[in-house]
Amino acid sequence: MDLSYDPALDAFRKEIRQFIADILPADMQARQRTKAANNAYVPDLLAWMRLLDQHGRAVPHWPVEHGGCDWTPQQLFVFNEELYAADAPEFDWGGTHMLGPVIYTFGSDFLKDKFLPMIREGATMWAQGFSEPGSGSDLASLRTAAELVGDKYIVNGQKIWTSGAAHADWGFFLVRTDKTVKPQRGISFLIIKMDTPGITVRQIPQINGEAHLCEVFLDNVEVPADQLIGESGMGWTYAKFLLEHERTTSSFIYWNKRELDRAKEIARSEMRGGRRIADDPAFRARFARAEADLLALEWSVLRVLAHEETDFPEAAAASVLKVRGSELQQEITMLQVDALGAKSLRYDEPTWDAPAASAEWPDYVAGRTTIALITRAATIYGGSKQVQKNILAKLAFGL
Ligand SMILES: Cc1cc2nc3c(=O)[nH]c(=O)nc-3n(C[C@H](O)[C@H](O)[C@H](O)COP(=O)(O)OP(=O)(O)OC[C@H]3O[C@@H](n4cnc5c(N)ncnc54)[C@H](O)[C@@H]3O)c2cc1C
Repeated sequence: MDLSYDPALDAFRKEIRQFIADILPADMQARQRTKAANNAYVPDLLAWMRLLDQHGRAVPHWPVEHGGCDWTPQQLFVFNEELYAADAPEFDWGGTHMLGPVIYTFGSDFLKDKFLPMIREGATMWAQGFSEPGSGSDLASLRTAAELVGDKYIVNGQKIWTSGAAHADWGFFLVRTDKTVKPQRGISFLIIKMDTPGITVRQIPQINGEAHLCEVFLDNVEVPADQLIGESGMGWTYAKFLLEHERTTSSFIYWNKRELDRAKEIARSEMRGGRRIADDPAFRARFARAEADLLALEWSVLRVLAHEETDFPEAAAASVLKVRGSELQQEITMLQVDALGAKSLRYDEPTWDAPAASAEWPDYVAGRTTIALITRAATIYGGSKQVQKNILAKLAFGL
């Protein structure tokens, strides 16, 4: 297998880099670069989606008939890599990468017509209502119930850790529609408008100063039955599709590459003991390790994208990428914080008003500590590290 980039891909990269430079507003880029918050700034994110959509590039990974681009996986890789390298706002992943593919694969024409354009055009933010108190790793035990009464579902229960729910217009929820069958068979996939009467959202204060995670209480919430995706009782299958669909996204490869560059910038600029951090042998060893790990991860992602034949099922590869990608996020953000030394003790309230840079407090200081703190969660969300290792043990080694 030849994984080297061909000249056509180089030309594509140049075109994408220029495209982003042409359309990315400078103020948006500056906010993203100096962000003291971990999560997307909603107005920028939606405005950026609209800008990309005007050029037909908001959801390039979707099928062409739904507004996607006819690109190879390698071209998609380059596109994402360039977006991150340029500090463009991130996507609303819930809509573009999770729900969208579920709707165009399993949803009715009504759902496709109503929601796919909304997601593509950045008209809405989405929340993912899967986890519940007591049902995280053991998701199939979820208890939030939906009862079909006439042409509506009546939903009662509680979700937790719902990212961004306080700012979301819509959510996609796993609900129990049948208690008489085995747990996985009784789950359905519902789209719910977040301002429906009976929904209460409570934000959870986080160690990094944000309150992005939420509890969502559903109390006799009436949901039109046509907002059910696919068949009743098939929600578990659709959720598994959703979680496995973006196999390579969970590697955080583009994010990790950008943040390692940022760590290097810090190490080249910060001095300790009379020399640059970059010249300190102990730091050099850590950087060499992170660089090698990142390169190995990138090649693993490319091998998955190239559908290289291996002895292992593809779902096992997804787990490897998740484990290594999330560990690297933690390794790289700790490198940033350690390279900043005492400066990392400056606490920036998570904010989108870019703190003014100065010689003493350069741009690269803002937000590093809040981001390093929340990155501790990377080995938990999207399937915890321990659970991913269980999957690996079973799928790859038959244990
Ligand atoms: C920052 C963040 C954002 C999140 N966003 C969302 C969201 O938007 N929507 C959503 O639905 N959920 C979200 N979650 C929830 C996330 O999916 C769950 O936290 C995750 O699935 C783990 O579930 P849990 O927290 O209930 O932990 P538990 O399942 O209770 O696990 C506790 C510990 O036990 C370990 N463990 C559990 N089972 C096993 C096992 N069989 N073998 C070995 N070890 C095991 C786990 O690895 C973990 O260390 C988010 C979580 C975080 C931290």
